Amino acid sequence: LGRRINAAMSDLTRSNVVDEKALDSMLKEICMALLESDVNVKLVSTLRANIKKQINLKDQAPGVNKRRLVQKTVFDELCALVDCQSENGDAPAFKPKKGRSNVIMFVGLQGSGKTTSCTKLALWYQRRGFKVGLVCADTFRAGAFDQLKQNATKAKVPYYGSYTETDPVAVAAAGVARFKSEKFDIIIVDTSGRHRQEQELFAEMVQISQAVKPDQTIMVLDASIGQAAESQSKAFKESSDFGAIILTKMDGHAKGGGAISAVAATRTPIVFIGTGEHIHDLEPFTPTQFISKLLGMGDIRGLVDHVKHMNLDQKETMKHIEQGIFTIRDLRDQLSNIMKMGPLSKMAGMIPGMSQVMGEVGEEESSKRLKRMMYIMDSMTEKELDSDGKIFVSEPTRLTRVAKGSGTSVREVEDVLSQQRTMARMVKQVGGKKPPRPKMKRLR
Ligand code: GDP
Ligand code: MG
Repeated sequence: LGRRINAAMSDLTRSNVVDEKALDSMLKEICMALLESDVNVKLVSTLRANIKKQINLKDQAPGVNKRRLVQKTVFDELCALVDCQSENGDAPAFKPKKGRSNVIMFVGLQGSGKTTSCTKLALWYQRRGFKVGLVCADTFRAGAFDQLKQNATKAKVPYYGSYTETDPVAVAAAGVARFKSEKFDIIIVDTSGRHRQEQELFAEMVQISQAVKPDQTIMVLDASIGQAAESQSKAFKESSDFGAIILTKMDGHAKGGGAISAVAATRTPIVFIGTGEHIHDLEPFTPTQFISKLLGMGDIRGLVDHVKHMNLDQKETMKHIEQGIFTIRDLRDQLSNIMKMGPLSKMAGMIPGMSQVMGEVGEEESSKRLKRMMYIMDSMTEKELDSDGKIFVSEPTRLTRVAKGSGTSVREVEDVLSQQRTMARMVKQVGGKKPPRPKMKRLR
């Protein structure tokens, strides 16, 4: 899907005039792609109409970059499709009420990732200071309790379950009662996902829900199920009126196209995405990141938001880049920003082309390399940092001094300098005030 939409967008970007015709053919391509990826027909035609309505090419002032405008509108409309947070306030996750026990019930088909996500969410709240307990109300699948027990133990979260009781409603009620009497802040109830008859499963969800009276019900949805997402979420919505969705397995090949239909069909927000099998692999959902990934653009927007959010001062480097300059200090500031942003492998997905670079050496090794580069630059003088690196060529003793000071080798210091030179060359090309050479112009 992403590839097609991107292709459609870049066709438009390449074509010389952005007129009605070009816009129409791009919209047609995008709609076809959305339909093929299981988004519901009505939804797609609404999207198309909205975009057409918003982009009135004739009325645009002459200075407006029309291509940008089209791209931005498509992006924003796609985001709006999965963004229904505003209806429930902008809280990304359920805010437990203080001074009493809050019950969260999980529903979803077997294999969607309920038990895994339960534990992840329990840990998420626990790390924010809440007292959390897990209840296993899956008495259908053999080994379900053992699995929850194992997960809970790993996360150091208290749990409740039974090997002998076969009535899920009874176990759920008993577990919730136990944790309530012990004044837990949050009680998470995991349920079963498979029955001989689907109707039986939905009936069971209704019964458990009546027994534990959840403050929040969360449906867990596997990102890779495609078309089935819509009917599945509708069925669960009817039986157990969930108020939030966790979209799992977003680390795999699935881009989650089907989730768009699920959200639209139930008008229920996705609150978290599961990004791996590990208990820490849970991230708050953000529409812009989701759509960027769907479009395969690399999550530039998320990255920009992230940087803004962290209040990092990029001004100096930006000014330099405009002037076509890139000093060692600029390199250091950029790397330190990247390191502040969190796990490298996650960040890598946000920067186009970066995943390949990271993929070669792996998370730990990249992180180590990055740290050593920082040690090296921290051992430089102010004058060296503000230089373009030539100072090291004219005075090679500086190399040995920095290597010694940072506990690294001359070779590694040279690597840092070479990295900076590469960046400087790129910056000179894209940002320098010098007009492009005529030869380049003809090539474009
Ligand atoms: P349940 O039947 O709904 O309780 O699903 P489980 O929690 O048992 O998960 C089913 C399988 O999916 C397990 O092998 C999990 O490790 C795996 N799984 C769950 N969430 C994720 C995720 O976000 N990413 C990946 N890669 N695997 C996941
Ligand atoms: Mg389970």
